[in-house]
Amino acid sequence: MILAVALWAWLPAAPAGAQELSALARVRTEGAVLRDTPGGGVELVLPLTVAVPYRVFTLDAPRRLVLDFNEVDWGGLDPEALAGGSGKVSALRFGVIRPGWSRMVLDLAAPLKLDTAALQTEPTGSATVLLRLVPATPEEYAARAGAPEGALFAPLEGAPAVRPRPLGQRPLVVVLDPGHGGIDPGAERGEVAEADLMLTFARELKEALLRAGGFEVVLTREGDEFVPLEARISIARAAGADVFLSLHADALVAGRATGATIYTLSERASDIASQKLAERHDRADLLAGVDLTRQDDVIAGVLMDLARTETAPRTDALADALVEGLASTIGVHKRPRLSAGFSVLKAPDIPSVLIELGFMSSPSDLTQLQDPQWRRRAAGGIVQALRSWAAEDAARARLRRR
Ligand SMILES: [Zn+2]
Repeated sequence: MILAVALWAWLPAAPAGAQELSALARVRTEGAVLRDTPGGGVELVLPLTVAVPYRVFTLDAPRRLVLDFNEVDWGGLDPEALAGGSGKVSALRFGVIRPGWSRMVLDLAAPLKLDTAALQTEPTGSATVLLRLVPATPEEYAARAGAPEGALFAPLEGAPAVRPRPLGQRPLVVVLDPGHGGIDPGAERGEVAEADLMLTFARELKEALLRAGGFEVVLTREGDEFVPLEARISIARAAGADVFLSLHADALVAGRATGATIYTLSERASDIASQKLAERHDRADLLAGVDLTRQDDVIAGVLMDLARTETAPRTDALADALVEGLASTIGVHKRPRLSAGFSVLKAPDIPSVLIELGFMSSPSDLTQLQDPQWRRRAAGGIVQALRSWAAEDAARARLRRR
């Protein structure tokens, strides 16, 4: 039932010249309304300065409505105020979901189905998105839910097979994964967002690796855009990654954690805080309107286990090297090696670790994370760690070949 509720409204493309000249379509905040309708439904009215292509679909578990547009300027729209207009919408959020694309996600407190989805255009060129939802049974809702075919996150085609282990004769391909982005800012403290901080750090680390030599570097996102966890792994595989480093600086609820921490994947988390952290990262995908119902069918379970058996010791060695490298430059958490079920680390064949460079919940970490000098030392520690790990890994691979 994938296509059931996907409604598409593609407008004829504007002449190329005109499109380049015109600014982004902007949401006219004053006319934006979300309200309950007499029949137990909900209505969303979103006026735009310019008509744009859009599409809308619903997802289940949790129930949410996803509205995608060509990129729009939200014009200071207040998500809480808008959501407050309806008792059937518990929360909503919006932001960039892909370069050139914006998304709004409404959390539905009750099963509702799309009755009307329309874009009304005015002679002046402005337009209004009008959505009407009406009550549905849970069964009806579930049957209609699902991301449309050709959704924005189709898996990458033609990804090359995993490359043989590096033996030290070619550059090491390092995929850097700046956490969060776009509709998902990650941890926030005042004006500072984890997503921005980690993108800055990923760019700096890339520079440091290229300057050191012997590395090729690919970033899973180049701007403030949302990339689902699954897609981050696809990007790494398509790049022929030898190593995958996910970069984070989360806030912990307890607020007491401080210092760099290296996480590896495990089914059982090393502690409750780590488990919560991993769950929160998975939840960001759900909140951003990603359909998680079709996962885990890429590689059969047995093959996955075999690959993991070979990869696990290499990943552990990588994590140990990173602890050592960071301990000698910026210092690490008192318990620097932890594990939990982070979805972004689930590539069975690529050594993958998640680095919490610091915790934004710690005032001292937050200050350091914003200090370019400190970040330079952190990058230096990671370069050093990757170098020593690569040399040992190549030596072990050569031994195995004899
Ligand atoms: Zn994070």
